[in-house]
Amino acid sequence: MIPVSTLDATPVLGVNMANVSLLRLDLAGGLAPGNKSYKLRHNLDQARRLGVRRLLSFGGAWSNHLHALAAVGHSDGFDTVGIVRGEAHGSVSPMLADAKAWGMQVVHVSRTDYRRRQDPAYLREIQAQFAPCLVIPEGGSNVAGALGCMDIGEQVRSAAPFARRVVLAVGTGTTLAGVAAALAPAAPVGAQSTTTDIEREVIGVSALKGASDLEQRVESLLSTCDADNPASWRILHDYHCGGFARVNPALREFMLAFERSHRIKLEPVYTGKMLFAIHQLLGSGRWDSQQPILAIHTGGLQGRRGYPWLDATPGDGL
Ligand SMILES: *Cc1c(COP(=O)(O)O)cnc(C)c1O
Repeated sequence: MIPVSTLDATPVLGVNMANVSLLRLDLAGGLAPGNKSYKLRHNLDQARRLGVRRLLSFGGAWSNHLHALAAVGHSDGFDTVGIVRGEAHGSVSPMLADAKAWGMQVVHVSRTDYRRRQDPAYLREIQAQFAPCLVIPEGGSNVAGALGCMDIGEQVRSAAPFARRVVLAVGTGTTLAGVAAALAPAAPVGAQSTTTDIEREVIGVSALKGASDLEQRVESLLSTCDADNPASWRILHDYHCGGFARVNPALREFMLAFERSHRIKLEPVYTGKMLFAIHQLLGSGRWDSQQPILAIHTGGLQGRRGYPWLDATPGDGL
C-alpha cells in the first residue's frame, strides 16, 4: 500500500489546501521511488520473456527516467546503458553519478545524434552496437509504460474513493494515460452496475511549455492499451512557469511556503508545478476548496540536487 498524506488547514500563502491528499509514490519504491519504476515494470517483463539481460534508454544528464532505469537494473540484475544528450563536460551530474554507481554504462552523444533517438535507422545502429538489448524510449514512454502506470490508478481508487479530481504532473503523458485507463468510469449506461464507483476527472499539469502534441500522445497510448473507456482527462498547459525545468519567482515562493507549512518535499520540475497549479486554482476560487482532490506525488526528489536554493529551506532534512 502506498502511503497517503492528507494536508491540514495550515494555509499556504493564504490558501487553505485541506481538501488535498497526496498519494506518496515518493515514499515507496526503494532505490527508484516515484512513477518511473511503474513505467519500467512491463518493459522489464518483456526483456525477461525475450531472455535479454541489457536495457538501454535515453535521457538528459538530469533524467529521472535514466536514474530509475539504473536503479531497477541494479536491483533486478540487468545491465543498463544510458544514452545521454550532449557531450560530457567537466563534472558528472549527481544523477549520472548515482546511475554509474549502480552500474549503468553512460554514453554521451552529441545533441545532433540525440535528436535521432526515434529514427528507426539510428535505433537499429544502437541496437546492433549493444546487442542483445531491449531499447526503451526516452522517458519510458511506450505502451508497456502506460500499462504499468495502471497500477498507480488502482492505488488512487483505494486511497481516495471520493476524490473526483485526480491531479498529476505530465512530461510524456504516459503516466496520465495509465491512470486514466485504470480509472474507467463504472459500467456504461444500461449495463448492470455492481460498483458504486464515482466519475473522476484526471487532470494533468504539463511541465513543458507549448507541448501541443501531448493530448495526441495520450490518445494514442490509450488506444494502444485497449482503454476504450478511460476516465475523462485533460491537460493544463499554463503552469510550466517558464518552461521545462525552469523556475520563476512565483513557483519558488510557493514551493518554499508549501514545504514550510506541510513538511512534504517537492521538486521544481514536476511535483512543484503540479501543486502550484492546484494552489492557484483553489486560491482563485476556480476550484471549490470543499471538494476532495487526490494529487499524485510522482517522486523525482533526487532532482532537488540541481536546485541549491531548496537545500537551505526548513522543508529540507525532514
Ligand atoms: C517523469 C516524471 C513525471 C512525468 O511522467 P510522464 O509519464 O512522462 O508524463 C512526473 N513526475 C515526476 C517526478 C517525474 O519524474
